[in-house]
Amino acid sequence: MFRFTNDRSSRSTGDGAKGKRAIVVGAGFGGIAAALRLRARGYEVQLLDRLEAPGGRAQVYRRGGFVFDAGPTVVTAPFLFEELFELFGKRLEDYADIVPVEPWYRYQFPDGREFDYGGSLDDTLEQIRSFDERDVEGYKRLVDMSERIFDKGFTELADAPFHRFGAMMKTVPALLKLRSYKTVHQLVASFIKSEHLRQAFCIHPLLVGGNPFDTTSIYSLIHFLERKWGIHFPMGGTGAIVNALGRLMGEEGVAFRGGAEVEELVVENGAARGVVLASGERLSADLVVVNGDPPFLYKNMIDRRHRRRWTDQRVDRLKYSMGLFVLYFGTERKYPEVPHHTIVLGPRFKGLLDDIFHRQTLADDFSVYLHRPTATDPSMAPEGKDSFYALVPVPNLDADLDWDVEGPKLRDRLVSFLDERILPGLSETITEDFFVTPRTFESRFLSHKGSGFSIQPVFTQSAWFRFHNVSEDIDDLYLVGAGTHPGAGMPGVLCSAKVLDRVVPAPPRTTAVRARESASAR
Ligand SMILES: Cc1cc2nc3c(=O)[nH]c(=O)nc-3n(C[C@H](O)[C@H](O)[C@H](O)COP(=O)(O)OP(=O)(O)OC[C@H]3O[C@@H](n4cnc5c(N)ncnc54)[C@H](O)[C@@H]3O)c2cc1C
Repeated sequence: MFRFTNDRSSRSTGDGAKGKRAIVVGAGFGGIAAALRLRARGYEVQLLDRLEAPGGRAQVYRRGGFVFDAGPTVVTAPFLFEELFELFGKRLEDYADIVPVEPWYRYQFPDGREFDYGGSLDDTLEQIRSFDERDVEGYKRLVDMSERIFDKGFTELADAPFHRFGAMMKTVPALLKLRSYKTVHQLVASFIKSEHLRQAFCIHPLLVGGNPFDTTSIYSLIHFLERKWGIHFPMGGTGAIVNALGRLMGEEGVAFRGGAEVEELVVENGAARGVVLASGERLSADLVVVNGDPPFLYKNMIDRRHRRRWTDQRVDRLKYSMGLFVLYFGTERKYPEVPHHTIVLGPRFKGLLDDIFHRQTLADDFSVYLHRPTATDPSMAPEGKDSFYALVPVPNLDADLDWDVEGPKLRDRLVSFLDERILPGLSETITEDFFVTPRTFESRFLSHKGSGFSIQPVFTQSAWFRFHNVSEDIDDLYLVGAGTHPGAGMPGVLCSAKVLDRVVPAPPRTTAVRARESASAR
């Protein structure tokens, strides 16, 4: 069992006064951030996960000297991690080394053309000028627009509670003014003429589980998020951030318990009062925060008689994000010409997205996000070798696909595709490869329909329409993570935990909490 040492846990209970207890179910970034935020406010916090190690989708796999981050690799708003350390008067930089990445992405098109994207605004304008001069002015206007959306959608609303309809109504005029009824693709296409650049600049919804042709243009704020803070990577991989947060939790007395699957939420008089583990053990608490997938929570962990809003039918009617097929592999040689993040686009764009999101069929062609962390940190593979993952969006489990059959076939097709398009000789040099499919997301993370990012970020599933951070059905139950407001992606789930600071009542200040406050004030 993976446990952090609680070298200062005595601080919270040392005076013998019983503090308020919180249980957080799920140690993804949302759950870790929630645990730390509750701890900073004086709660005694237990963080549980069915997996042995924390990190959720940011698990780390190690094979034959290669290090593979399982999930997130593009760090877009590092300050959201910094904030968690600042809560305790500490600095992230003392725990992890997060460095900028350049270019942010390389787009490789099927006609052989490449577009390197990143740097300052002037750098990007220069990149656009040499790619398609017609789009220089349009891009400036796109950035202006995404900044306006960012000011509203991120700065104002990302960590604002949205469990009251009144809050939603107040924001509607601003959302209409920002044309949030448009999709990301419509917005981008209204500024950009080149078909290649349209694809490049409307890819962002896919990073949070949405189809650019269906996702509300509020998510164009990600474009500005990247522009404002750039793209970063932690040395050692995303797992290094998980370890840094793990150390912080250990120091601050957040008890992490791995291998602890929660089977049922304990509800007493309409309020969450603890959880029952798969082992039958019952843990009590004054409040519960769930970071697991909300559809799974409502359908499987809470008895029907406690659910008025989130009935099984309502949960099933939601639109779910796509599934992911991810092939992790090492290579016996290095590919120094391949940058850290490459998006290798296939021959079809809209048609492929229709296959994935609407027709729910596994297409013969695909587009791939290729991660080569060894471009930034060579220590993630043995000397002279590279570590990679290739991510292919695929239909979720609504599709009638047998992944035991389709998985190995897709693996072979993907290796040939990469060999042909970007990694010559891959078929001979590939080593230590293994893959995950939507079935893995279902069984490992308990993701409903095996979706990669919980429910889709369409307008009718955003803000008030998304799973609320404050449960509508049960008192003292809070939700954080990808399926909740504001949505998926590391910045999204870290912001979902910030909402808790506004909606979870402060615990009574015990002598221990007061002692800690005066110690940090000194
Ligand atoms: C392949 C991939 C690449 C990605 N790339 C990026 C990227 O580059 N940048 C970015 O910002 N985002 C990226 N994302 C999205 C991002 O990783 C996720 O949105 C985010 O990490 C999800 O965090 P979360 O807090 O919702 O929890 P999750 O990471 O989903 O973790 C939830 C945890 O809850 C646990 N759990 C669930 N139910 C129970 C239960 N009943 N009992 C106990 N434990 C339970 C699960 O085991 C899991 O560990 C990527 C995602 C994937 C899959």
